[in-house]
Amino acid sequence: IDIDITPTGEREIRRIGSVILLRNITPFKELDSAKTNFIATVSHELKTPISSIKMSLDLLEHQTTGGLNEDQRQLIESIRDDSERLLRITGELVDMSRLESGHIQLNKQPSDPMAILDYTLGAVGNQAVQRGIELVTEVDADLPVIDMDAEKTAWVLTNFMTNAIRYSPDKGRVIIAIRKSGRVVRFSVRDFGQGIEQRYRERIFDRYFQVPGSNKSGTGLGLAISKDFIENQGGRIGVESEPGLGSTFFFELPC
Ligand code: ADP
Repeated sequence: IDIDITPTGEREIRRIGSVILLRNITPFKELDSAKTNFIATVSHELKTPISSIKMSLDLLEHQTTGGLNEDQRQLIESIRDDSERLLRITGELVDMSRLESGHIQLNKQPSDPMAILDYTLGAVGNQAVQRGIELVTEVDADLPVIDMDAEKTAWVLTNFMTNAIRYSPDKGRVIIAIRKSGRVVRFSVRDFGQGIEQRYRERIFDRYFQVPGSNKSGTGLGLAISKDFIENQGGRIGVESEPGLGSTFFFELPC
């Protein structure tokens, strides 16, 4: 750019050329994809031994002659909880690597929203009982069948529920609702926990983001994966929250 300044102080600006900066980012891309492959391989390899630890625990619990005493039973319970947590974390890492490398495929089929609810309640029932949390369901009669990937949708609802239980006070309440609203079916999970400040609400759907000070174990990947699963099905995901009073996570799928 060429700038002339006249005696009266006026400026005349002329464009006389352009500079184009080209940078080869191939090595960065290669490194990134090597990292993604590494995470996928390691996480996948970890899943098998963790699953067999869980199976051995079940055998130990049910086949020990003479039964177990209370201390031994509690130890087994705690190893089982830890194995489940490890399985969840490795599962999330595998899913995220697949999403990053474009290897996740949708399997959409007409599915019953009630089946998603039943699956989710079965998956989180134990966690709720352990914390004395009451699960309340509010479901519209005559919900339509939805063209969706039932497995991924159930995964998202389970993730919402796991978080809601985790961030609720002991003996709290979590409300799961499924309602038809115009041309969408809305699934929501409401808790009465700590809530999420406005400035973090968008960011919690980013990969690896955790609200500072939330001080809970996890990967920060659950909501990022959920967002991908829902948006890939043409749906919408979001959260409403009142800090100190609780949060409502929801997603909507077209019907
Ligand atoms: P993770 O739970 O593994 O940390 P998520 O992606 O599921 O990862 O959640 C990201 C962050 O969002 C959590 O670390 C937490 O700070 C916040 N969060 C999620 N759900 C809730 C909730 N129901 N109440 C309060 N904070 C939540």
